[in-house]
Amino acid sequence: MIYAIVAYGDPVLRQKTAEVEFNAELEKLVEDMFETMYNAKGVGLAAPQIGKALRLFVIDPEAMDEENLKGQKKVFINPTILNQEGEPWPYEEGCLSIPDIHADVNRMPKLTIKYQNLKGDWLTEEYDGLIARVIQHEYDHIEGILFIDHLTSFKKQLFKAKLQQIVKGNVEHKYRMRFAGKK
Ligand code: ZN
Repeated sequence: MIYAIVAYGDPVLRQKTAEVEFNAELEKLVEDMFETMYNAKGVGLAAPQIGKALRLFVIDPEAMDEENLKGQKKVFINPTILNQEGEPWPYEEGCLSIPDIHADVNRMPKLTIKYQNLKGDWLTEEYDGLIARVIQHEYDHIEGILFIDHLTSFKKQLFKAKLQQIVKGNVEHKYRMRFAGKK
């Protein structure tokens, strides 16, 4: 099932997220999140983006770098980033919830994350480079943070009018979306 992706302006993107419970519906939810992400040609999707305030996100960054990021389709359940390190580096980011806006974001290149997989096992892993960036972007979502929050106030000002249009649904998008301010 393909969910409508929640657009910027919906309070669920800023809501405090709850721990995921391992129940019979979880596997289907994760499957649907992947389907929704692939349908929108995204490389990551967090539960708040489909209207569910849960500590859960999925990634598959293969499309960003087919050589090095193959086979990194992953689900992160109840994650905590334990550590981030290195010199912050800029990279142009976008977000399925904020269509048509792209901007450089500085993030640290390395991280250590603890999370549960679909079986409920706890894992602690290290990531660096592009995949770390995808994880940081999605992790931000479950903390109620959006990539535009990392921009300077000058840059944010440049996007202000466009963001107001997104809230109202006045933006082109090639996948199904839900707009909080659409009448
Ligand atoms: Zn995003």
